[in-house]
This record gives sequence, C-alpha cells and structure tokens, in this order.
Amino acid sequence: MHIIQQLIFILVLASATYLLFKRIQFIRKGIKLGKPLSRSDNPSARWRSMALVAFGQKKMFKKPLPALLHLFVYVGFLVINIEVLEFIIDGIAGTHRIFAPFLGGTYTILLSFFEFLAVAVFVACAVFLIRRNIVKVARFHKPEMTAWPTLDANLILVFEILLTSAILLMNASDQVLQAKGAEHYTPTGQLFFSSFLIPLFQNSEVSTLIILERFFWWFHIIGILGFAVYVTYSKHLHIFMAFPNTYFANLKPMGQIDNMYNVTNEVKLMLGLPSETDVSESPAEVGRFGAKDVNDLTWKSLMDSFTCTECGRCTAECPANQTGKKLSPRGIMMATRDRVEEVAKSEKGLEDGKSLLGDYISKEEINACTSCNACVEACPVLIDPLSIILELRRYVSMEESGSPAAWNAMFQNIETNFAPWKFAPTDRFNWADDLKEV
Ligand code: SF4
Ligand code: SF4
Repeated sequence: MHIIQQLIFILVLASATYLLFKRIQFIRKGIKLGKPLSRSDNPSARWRSMALVAFGQKKMFKKPLPALLHLFVYVGFLVINIEVLEFIIDGIAGTHRIFAPFLGGTYTILLSFFEFLAVAVFVACAVFLIRRNIVKVARFHKPEMTAWPTLDANLILVFEILLTSAILLMNASDQVLQAKGAEHYTPTGQLFFSSFLIPLFQNSEVSTLIILERFFWWFHIIGILGFAVYVTYSKHLHIFMAFPNTYFANLKPMGQIDNMYNVTNEVKLMLGLPSETDVSESPAEVGRFGAKDVNDLTWKSLMDSFTCTECGRCTAECPANQTGKKLSPRGIMMATRDRVEEVAKSEKGLEDGKSLLGDYISKEEINACTSCNACVEACPVLIDPLSIILELRRYVSMEESGSPAAWNAMFQNIETNFAPWKFAPTDRFNWADDLKEV
C-alpha cells in the first residue's frame, strides 16, 4: 500500500514540477519580447529596495489593518511552506512526520507556530473575502475587474482557507490516532490550535481516522502543488515576481522622463555633437518612435505586467480615474499582460494583425493621463504604469500625429517659441512694458 502511495506521490510531484517549468519558460518568453534595458547599476540600492519593498512589505503599511492581514498571509505562505519539505520527504520515502523524532519538543513548538500562522491566514483570507464581496471596497469593483480577475481573487482566498483548514484537521486527526496507538503515527506532543478540533474525531474508529488523516494530507500537498502551478496563471504570481521586480525597479527620481535617444541623437548630429548609442532606448522597429505593441516596450515594463497584483491602489489614486475618465493604470497593466500572453501563445506572434495600442489600450485612456506619477507612488511592488502610457503616447503623437489638436498646437509652439503659448520668444515680456513706464 505504502509503495503505491509513494509512486502516486512521485508522479504528482513530477507532473507539478513539469507544468511549473513549462509556465516559467512561457513567462520568460513573454518578458523577453521586450526591448533591452540596462538595470544592473547600483546593486546595493537594488538589494535594499528588494529587502524593504518585497521582503519588508514597506509600501503596504500606508493602511495598517489591510497591511497586517496581508503580512499574515505572506509570512504564513513563506513559513508554512517549510512544512512542505517534510511532506515531500514523507511522500517520497513513505515515512510519516520524519522530523518529529529528531526535533522532539522543538517539533511541537514549530508545529504550533505553523498552526498559529494557519489560523492567522484563515482569518485574514476571510476578512479579505468580506472586504471584496460584502463591504465591496471600491477599488475591487472597477470596469477592468471583469469576471475572471474577480473570480481569480476570490478563488485564491477560498483555496487558502481550505488549505489552512486541511492542516488543522490533519493535525487534529493525527493526534487522535497517536492517542489511540495507531501504528506509524509518531507522537508530536499536543499542538496548540488543532487540539481544539480533537473532539470532532475522538469517537471515530482508527480505520476511519486513517482515511481522514490521509485525505487531509493528500488534499494539502496536492493543493500546495496545484497552487504553485495555478499562481503562474493568476495575479498571485506577484508572490514570486515581486522580488525581481523590486530589484530591477527604476532608481531615478520619479518625475524624471528620459529623452528619446534617437531624437536626442538627431539633435546632437545637427549641432555637431558626438551621438550616443544607447541600445536600451532603441525602438523595436527601426525608425519607430514610442510603442505600438509589446515588443516596443522594455522587458521591465513586461515584467511589471506579470507582477501586477491587480490590487487597484494605483487606480484608486489616479486623478484621471477619480474624475471619471476611462483611464485605469491597473487596466493598463492588465491589458499589457493579456497582450504579452497572447503574443507568446500565438503561432503568429506579433503578426496576428493586433497591437497593444488600439486593440487593448485606447487613445482615450492614454490621453487622459496627467503624468502625475501617483500610480507609481501607490504601487506596493514598484510597478510603473506611466512608462507604458508615455511610450504609447509618444507613438500616437510622433508616428500618427494623432494627438488632440490642442496638444499639436502646443507641440508646435514649444518647437517654434520654446514655450507652450503662441508668442514669439521676444514678445514674452511685453506684458511688463507698461511697468517700465510707471
Ligand atoms: S500618471 Fe497617469 S495613470 Fe498614473 S496616476 Fe497619474 S494620471 Fe493616472
Ligand atoms: S500596478 Fe501596482 S498598484 Fe496597480 S494594481 Fe498593479 S500592483 Fe496594484
């Protein structure tokens, strides 16, 4: 019997590992569609950014209660998964709680701590479900939160509640089996939280208890492996992506908008100055200004799209969205990810007759952006929706001359008058003429 269980476990583990590997390859392929960008400077500042923002959850603590609940889920996820190591060894070797005899009393303390985290995750997920579905926090109910993103968010919360319940029920049935002297059930000592559930199992036969304990064990480990694969299709990919994304984040001041290297070069050539060859700024298509599709964006913008948690903090802070415009920075990130996945999946790739601009993101959306950076400031994982908007807008204005008429007049004025107004530079101080006479 044991050997069959071991074989099934090895098969399940190998299948999950294979699926996970395929998905990682797919995401890598998607990110590599982007054009080059150098983000290897200043490694110490980058490690610091990752430690504070990804590990330390620094930007989450603007609102203490959701931050604390999120911290429970995050720490619970990291720490409870240490227990998975024991599950995997037990599953392969056919043992049961292999660490218990070695760790003795420490095992009891460790497991009780894991149970505390399981209870905290359970409570946090229940509160999150209530906030989304009963309190209906506004940022979770914007137009871009269509059926799948809403279902995805709820599914994962229900899933975590089921997984944490399985741990507690497994430990409770295990303790009853230990008390009844069942073979192979190594003593763990009294576990703090699951011991409250012991009355549920106390009157059951040993054979029934073994079936229940095994059911919870298998449910938990298949759930964890299934979760690992599922997150790669879900917004919960941020659990992993937050780390590289914060490491490779933009370290320049937020308001600094980079010049376009090919325009700068043209001007330098005209002035007889040496030109730059910065490949990181070169367009995907020679002669193209800005971005029309995902291959015109940098790999970092595409990594941003895979990291987005769809939390909507950016959209909640966006002045354009607050004043009823169609623009949602979260929507920009979701649309970018959808397009990257479509291109990476399709046989035709970028030649499928569609593009990010037009088919996924409209001019109305990008024109509504005030370039205020509020979305960048609000994002808990250092995503930069503005850089995508700017590149799309550059394409519209420079390749299609498709900006609103008032903007074109302003561009013309800046070009000829060095100011947004329609005055010759020499006329700009005419208003002061009368003052001189006084
Ligand atoms: S930069 Fe644009 S998208 Fe971001 S918050 Fe400001 S207006 Fe909204
Ligand atoms: S871009 Fe950042 S703030 Fe906006 S939804 Fe995604 S993770 Fe949240």
